[in-house]
Amino acid sequence: MASKLLLITFVICRLLSTVGFTMDPLARVTGQLSSDPDDLEAASRDFGGMSRAKPLAVLHPASAEDVASVVRAGSAQGFTVSARGHGHSINGQAQVGRNGVVIDMSGPKGRRFREEFTKPVLGEVVSRGGDSRSRSYYVDVWGGELWIDVLKWSLDEHGLAPKSWTDYLYLSVGGTLSNAGISGQAFHQGPQTSNVYELDVVTGTLRKGELMTCSEEKNSELFHGVLGGLGQFGIITRARIALETAPQRVKWVRVLYSNFSAFTKDQEYLISLHGGGSSERFDYVEGFIIVDEGLINNWRSSFFSPRNPVNLTSIGAYDVLYCLEVTKNYDKSTADTVDQVVETLLKKLDFIPSSVFTTDVTYLDFLDRVHKAELKLRAKNLWHVPHPWLNLFVPKSQISKFNDGVFKGMLAGNKTSGPILIYPMNRNKWDQRSSVVTPDEDVFYLVALLRSATEEGPHTLDNLRDQNRRILHFCEESGIKVKRYLPDHSTLDEWKGHFGEKWEAFKQMKMKFDPSHILAVGQRIFQPSF
Ligand code: FAD
Repeated sequence: MASKLLLITFVICRLLSTVGFTMDPLARVTGQLSSDPDDLEAASRDFGGMSRAKPLAVLHPASAEDVASVVRAGSAQGFTVSARGHGHSINGQAQVGRNGVVIDMSGPKGRRFREEFTKPVLGEVVSRGGDSRSRSYYVDVWGGELWIDVLKWSLDEHGLAPKSWTDYLYLSVGGTLSNAGISGQAFHQGPQTSNVYELDVVTGTLRKGELMTCSEEKNSELFHGVLGGLGQFGIITRARIALETAPQRVKWVRVLYSNFSAFTKDQEYLISLHGGGSSERFDYVEGFIIVDEGLINNWRSSFFSPRNPVNLTSIGAYDVLYCLEVTKNYDKSTADTVDQVVETLLKKLDFIPSSVFTTDVTYLDFLDRVHKAELKLRAKNLWHVPHPWLNLFVPKSQISKFNDGVFKGMLAGNKTSGPILIYPMNRNKWDQRSSVVTPDEDVFYLVALLRSATEEGPHTLDNLRDQNRRILHFCEESGIKVKRYLPDHSTLDEWKGHFGEKWEAFKQMKMKFDPSHILAVGQRIFQPSF
């Protein structure tokens, strides 16, 4: 019934606007408010492929003001609103259901409407320290911009690039900033949420749908709250992202371990080098678990190519292998010394001596590496399958227990149907004023079980979900205090537990910036108040 009323309102508003009345915020929309079945269908899905919810309408915005108009209307008329970045959530986080409007922040239709105004704009910060002046650059981008486009633009036009990344770049700026945005650079650069200077945010403030600019200095409560805020306080329409001079090429190295404590000791050693100058550390540190070699499992591992084969049998008997992945960036000025630097760093590590795999690629090719794997999986119809992913932050003190119980316990000997990443990060690179939640230790690990379900065999959706539940249960029983990354809790108690000490402040912010609870309802934290 509510959705019918809303549809009628849309139609009436459209009619009124054609004869000059603009009494309803929706009538001011200059983009496209669509109820086209294809748009509704696209907005009802996400990468997880496990939940579907058709919205009432989809907005392809032409401006930030369009976003504000729809949020204002939602607050006044009682419908929910979610930004959809690139729809790469796992559990319906960008969905709204039948009484809501999805704002398609990244889609090609919106791009057409926005045309000129959302083009990235380069800016410069000059800091003065005594007599010296140092310059740093930033780029202002539309909140729905994809990271791949931000990278290509800043590289091609200016030889610059953002500092902190995700492994996969076909994600939107607003979508990753609402979570954290992490990859192997996070140990020294911090997550993407630590590399933003300023945001424009449309809040859900009662009946106002206000567009507010926020930063460390201005509306700082909103700024910190929105970063990692799971879309709860507003929709990011512009982000000012820190840039650095881009390297030209990357030495990319993988080495193997059969001993978990040697593997984690080396990872932790490498991330402890973040304070030094650029030549004293790697630029990227990740790792993954090797259990089997099927196509899906290896979709991020094409590195072990025919030119660069890995003969696991030559390595000897093992339950589980651990692969450390590191890179060193370089350009013309450091090309002569980069191999020496890599060698010196590798000499300090304790991997299996015969297991060094090296390649050399452009910076763009390295950063865009997962897209190549995506194309392979798409060609085999294996991209659009359910993805019951589980992402955990595990405290350093308990990672060994996690290895015993999960990698060497539950998963050992099984094919895993997807990559399992494991890498540590330094908590002091995470701004604790943001909404992101991490374990309470100086170093914690990301463990990402990025698995794909198949219709038959051991990896059905039910089986993988059950395994996820057992992993979480094991952590609880063993006192491993994990925090979920890209969380999908469903009860209020679980959310309170997730946010811990941050919960009260999070709730207060919600009261202030979205009191009717109309925003990002797909996160299932707060119920709409109508
Ligand atoms: P969506 O799924 O569209 O939205 C996610 C949430 O953010 C929703 O609640 C939505 O309402 C909200 N939102 C979206 N846009 C905005 C906005 N402009 N303002 C406010 N709220 C907004 N994450 C990492 O950190 N590192 C990785 O290496 C990584 N790799 C990935 C690889 C793949 C193949 C996939 C599918 C995901 C990966 N992720 C990674 C997870 C990814 O960062 C999150 O799923 C992210 O939310 C996806 O971005 P999106 O633009 O598709 O967001």
